Amino acid sequence: MIELKNISKVYNKSKSNEVNALQNIDLKIEAGSMLAIMGPSGSGKSTLLNILGCLDVASAGTYKLNGQELQSLSRGKLAAVRNQHFGFVVQDFALIEDYTVMKNVEIPLHYSKNKVNKKEKTLALLDMLGMKEKASEYVYNLSGGQRQRVAIARALINNPDIILADEPTGALDQKTGEQVLAIFKKIHKEQNKTVLIVTHDEKIAKQCEGIINIVDGKIVKKSY
Ligand code: ADP
Ligand code: ADP
Repeated sequence: MIELKNISKVYNKSKSNEVNALQNIDLKIEAGSMLAIMGPSGSGKSTLLNILGCLDVASAGTYKLNGQELQSLSRGKLAAVRNQHFGFVVQDFALIEDYTVMKNVEIPLHYSKNKVNKKEKTLALLDMLGMKEKASEYVYNLSGGQRQRVAIARALINNPDIILADEPTGALDQKTGEQVLAIFKKIHKEQNKTVLIVTHDEKIAKQCEGIINIVDGKIVKKSY
């Protein structure tokens, strides 16, 4: 369970130029939900995702994850929470082009204590995502849809309970985007993971269990 109370985020570009990226955000997200986050460009969606995923900290407010208060944790402890609970997927995949599929998926394991059966785990994930036969392929030889599957495998390798995806279909054509969404739905359904997807695409958002609409750093509507 994610609980945000009165979360605000101010970026200080300079003393005279502050951006209120998020203002007084109250949000409860039950474990195992699949929700879309929508809003115009610059409305604060990425900032919200970054705070939820412990990549950034709020300027004010409280964040509880499964009952634990996070806003007062040290950087190191916050990183541990991030590695334990969150998997990230981004629009441009953020893969290493001249690594193989296998090596890309294993990257998060370098930072994890959880190194046993590395190869088996990676291959099982790639199998689930229909990418097992590409395990030894280099990323530069893959299509966009295949790349996003690799990125999803990498996000899942440490078995996070929450997947945060920032425009995961934004660089894909409609059909490939739908296929990638189907993977998120499957992970959500079969593994009961919480999935939060930032998207501009109504068709993608409608397939989630609910939508959080953000405008100018404020939640203007929640439908779930
Ligand atoms: P969205 O994801 O909805 O496009 P963002 O969360 O990226 O919105 O940005 C919200 C606002 O905060 C925008 O005005 C953006 O320019 C600003 N912003 C985002 N990140 C930074 C940053 N690191 N430093 C300064 N301003 C930022
Ligand atoms: P999106 O709108 O797709 O979320 P952006 O292109 O707005 O992405 O932002 C990409 C990255 O740049 C994000 O990490 C965001 O925090 C940062 N960023 C966005 N706006 C600014 C800004 N005005 N100044 C500095 N960093 C920014």
